[in-house]
Amino acid sequence: MTKTNKKGLITVALCAVILAVGLLSAYIIRYEFWRIYGFFDGIGKGETGLVSELAMDEAETYRVNISEIRTADGVSFSNIMWLVNADHPLSEEDVPVVAAVDDKNSVSTYAFYDLQRLFSEVKSKFGKDLLLTSTYRTREYQAWVYENNPFAVPAGTSEHETGLAVDVKIEGYPQKRFINSNVGRWVAKNSYKFGFIIRYPMWGQKLTGVEYEPWHLRYVSEPHAEIIYRSKITLEEYSSLYDEGKFYAYGEYIISRQSGESGELVLPKTSNTVCVSPDNAGGYYIWAKR
Ligand SMILES: [Zn+2]
Repeated sequence: MTKTNKKGLITVALCAVILAVGLLSAYIIRYEFWRIYGFFDGIGKGETGLVSELAMDEAETYRVNISEIRTADGVSFSNIMWLVNADHPLSEEDVPVVAAVDDKNSVSTYAFYDLQRLFSEVKSKFGKDLLLTSTYRTREYQAWVYENNPFAVPAGTSEHETGLAVDVKIEGYPQKRFINSNVGRWVAKNSYKFGFIIRYPMWGQKLTGVEYEPWHLRYVSEPHAEIIYRSKITLEEYSSLYDEGKFYAYGEYIISRQSGESGELVLPKTSNTVCVSPDNAGGYYIWAKR
């Protein structure tokens, strides 16, 4: 082989390698980046000790009978903290109160305002519309979805039946590819500021039983969204941050998780609204601004 031939061969081989790397990179960026992002997003531990126990004496609390909690003065009773999964299904009576966002979509009235805030922020920051691809589903509709989609979950076990979950995309970036967009990555890092969590992170699959869904946002309200985001935990693990019946401080909030077994809940005395939500796992979350 002459020297020129050898040089030519090396050049051709180098070009082939560069082309292959280029094609592979383009493929990864277009179709598989969501996996890489989801994987790297899971590296590193979350913050611990975010909530600290509050020593409350009887004078700072009052008791309300659970049968009267929905109509108690100064109390906002909701389903915001419902845990819904295969182990914690909803009953047929668990029908949420929803409001229409547009012709096709409704969401829980509790999530409505903060969802609008999130959409406005995306619009003003990126000049793009966050689009809804799925929102509230009735139990009947979820049963139909389950029959027609091999990836769907049975009726009673979908968060979409609570009206607290929304699937979003931007134009050209549906489903998994949502995270390939700058809006998708911003939403992953900032939706907690609007009370939403990425409900099914790639690193949480063992606990949630659901694959990574960067498009599925779940409303849990402040301060829960912020604590879950910063702790890097799933909703399944959230209750483990609280010992039953105790009160905790997080920023300007007081939070407590109680079993309600006595038939009563202990609420903090405050001039602010006290939020109460059952968690569909045998307990109640109670929270308020101090
Ligand atoms: Zn969804």
